[in-house]
Amino acid sequence: MNTVVRYFKSLMLIELFKGLGVTMRYFGRPKFTLRYPEEKTPKSNRFRGLHALRRYPNGEERCIACKLCEAVCPALAITIESTQREDGTRRTTRYDIDLFKCIYCGFCEESCPVDSIVETDLHEYHFENRGENVVTKAQLLAIGDRFEEQIAAARRQDAAYR
Ligand code: SF4
Ligand code: SF4
Repeated sequence: MNTVVRYFKSLMLIELFKGLGVTMRYFGRPKFTLRYPEEKTPKSNRFRGLHALRRYPNGEERCIACKLCEAVCPALAITIESTQREDGTRRTTRYDIDLFKCIYCGFCEESCPVDSIVETDLHEYHFENRGENVVTKAQLLAIGDRFEEQIAAARRQDAAYR
């Protein structure tokens, strides 16, 4: 009996008309889809994207090479080497993040006592050559310099919850 019903349905194109009915029902309604990349969805100020190292307004790097971020990173994605400067302060000589290992958990920025390593809302980046997945201190500082305004604004918005 089922075979006869199925045969009758396919003969009358009932499934096709059902599908067209759904299309027509949604035809005039507002769209849920966006024309990415021209249109973008809003992002939370807590979005965890590409990392950056920040500086103080006087240009001094914030990072004091305490290595808390390196210790807390569950993916072992951060590699830090440090040295003591002539003025007795400690600074990193190497700060690498392997973005292939990173799981964007945000632990590094949560652990940082001076708000140095942060995750920006940048998610549109790519690599073209082998090894570019490891971002260096110079690159991280450059990202921080370029997007400091956005980073500071996001952190101001979130300040009450931190
Ligand atoms: S976001 Fe998480 S996994 Fe990525 S570097 Fe920071 S602590 Fe490591
Ligand atoms: S980024 Fe922050 S947590 Fe990591 S070594 Fe520098 S000061 Fe310490």
